[in-house]
Amino acid sequence: MEADKTRARKILQILRESFTMPKWISSKQDPFETLIITIISQNTSDRNTEKAFQKLSEKFPITPEALAKAETVEIEECLKVAGLYRNKARVIKEVSKIILEKFNGGLKPILDMPFEEARKTLLQLPGIGPKTADVLLLFSANRPTVPVDTHVKRVSKRLGLAPTDGDYEDVRRTLQLLYEPRDYLAVHILLILLGRKYCKALKPLCEQCPVRVFCPSRRG
Ligand code: SF4
Repeated sequence: MEADKTRARKILQILRESFTMPKWISSKQDPFETLIITIISQNTSDRNTEKAFQKLSEKFPITPEALAKAETVEIEECLKVAGLYRNKARVIKEVSKIILEKFNGGLKPILDMPFEEARKTLLQLPGIGPKTADVLLLFSANRPTVPVDTHVKRVSKRLGLAPTDGDYEDVRRTLQLLYEPRDYLAVHILLILLGRKYCKALKPLCEQCPVRVFCPSRRG
């Protein structure tokens, strides 16, 4: 395990030197906004997510009160560019109502719970799966977890940082054992950046990849 940790730390160090961490992650994000963005972002690009969120926030304040009261068709209209807009609008309205009625109009009461209880409570809300729950806990409450999106999953498996047949929880657990909690945010962001730029799903650019010397899956 110590050798694995050393190797994992070296990979992280190279990634830190190879990529610039996006500025937006330095500030604590509003949890409700993060939730709405994450719901909109399902199965669509960052660009379309941004456009739809922009449209929604021009039409309504991004608060549980406003979105719980909004007409579903009006939310749908804003989300069209992001696809699956009927379903996403329904989920946004539903989750807003629950947060308003059961949690005093905000996610803070949930995010302040002990970690496992907070995660379990988030997972019971409509539109929140393990990745969204972990994104909210990490980005909006600075809680120690590594959200596993499609890039994190693929890249960590190729790099031998997670079991190749591992599911969401296996990947999250293994990454959390390899790294210190203070590095979880960087691990999440940097593996995504590596996946987008070099370790692409279909044609990974191994020859240019900054961590190729540590990669058991490198080609060429
Ligand atoms: S060497 Fe290739 S497979 Fe390994 S992380 Fe880099 S791009 Fe991905």
